[in-house]
Amino acid sequence: MIAVLTGGTGGAKFVLGLSHVLPAEELVVIVNTGDDLVWWGLRVSPDLDSITYALAGILSRERGWGVDGDTFHCRDAMARLGESVWFQLGDRDLATHLTRTRLLSHGHSLSEATGEIARGLSIRSAVLPMSDSPVETRVLTDRGELSFQEYFVRERFRPAVERVRFVGAESARPAPGVTEAIRSAEAVLVAPSNPITSIGPILAISGIADALASTNAPVVAVSPIVGSAAVSGPAGDLMQAQGLSVSTSGVAQAYREFLDVLLVAPKDTASAAPSNAWGVQFRAANILMRTDHEKSSLAREALAAARSIKRRARSATV
Ligand code: GDP
Repeated sequence: MIAVLTGGTGGAKFVLGLSHVLPAEELVVIVNTGDDLVWWGLRVSPDLDSITYALAGILSRERGWGVDGDTFHCRDAMARLGESVWFQLGDRDLATHLTRTRLLSHGHSLSEATGEIARGLSIRSAVLPMSDSPVETRVLTDRGELSFQEYFVRERFRPAVERVRFVGAESARPAPGVTEAIRSAEAVLVAPSNPITSIGPILAISGIADALASTNAPVVAVSPIVGSAAVSGPAGDLMQAQGLSVSTSGVAQAYREFLDVLLVAPKDTASAAPSNAWGVQFRAANILMRTDHEKSSLAREALAAARSIKRRARSATV
């Protein structure tokens, strides 16, 4: 079984690639929920939804979120009523949020609701929220403290970031199955997701960080950074705000407690030497996923890197 830690954009592309090269039952996907929000009265989990839709084969490739071919009549009707529509939900997408909201309001956990939605969409891989407790990513900016979606969607990540914190992470426990998957996996993969706001909240849950540091499984990550910039989005600004260099070395530093191998763009292997200070091996790969073929190839590369390590060096000394 292969466990993957992920956010929703770079992560969904990578998970789609893995789903093409692994039997569905062998994939356990552990997903960030720090971006979750209540919108139009509904419980929305953007990263869980992107992963779920990717595995169901219905993720919109055009937008990178929501359901392929969806319409937005409800959004238009909400706008006519004077409601905020800066965060958009498609009409078919609403079925997911209505179902999640109903299940949660009837006392089910987020893991149970996620499992129910995945079953409804005939997904055979396990999709696990990082935690059933609320953890909220808050971004302190020069325009005040914002939720992640206010920062990312409403403000289009223009405000200067000073700091990021994960409210609730200290007392949150990993969702059922999360630490078990990390400990018993053949390999743990970290998707090319935002190290601060997608993987950061997952690592902020102490039980998960402990499981990663002590698992015997090799841990392989794909860099979301090429050269000195993120492939897309605000990962660079957020890394800088958290004191990391915007580079593959900064990614290695963020994951230094548990990472064995970081897959980086070929041009970044030349500048890799300093990162050896973090004990992380760099390996060149085509880490850009523009086509389905590239997604599957990267998934294969990550699995091959993990298999070539067999057991983590540090487990020999434990
Ligand atoms: P979020 O939940 O929407 O923030 O999504 P993720 O955290 O999963 O993905 C965002 C990250 O994906 C960004 O930091 C991008 O640099 C990275 N990313 C997007 N597309 C690609 C790609 O094709 N290759 C790699 N290596 N990274 C990518």
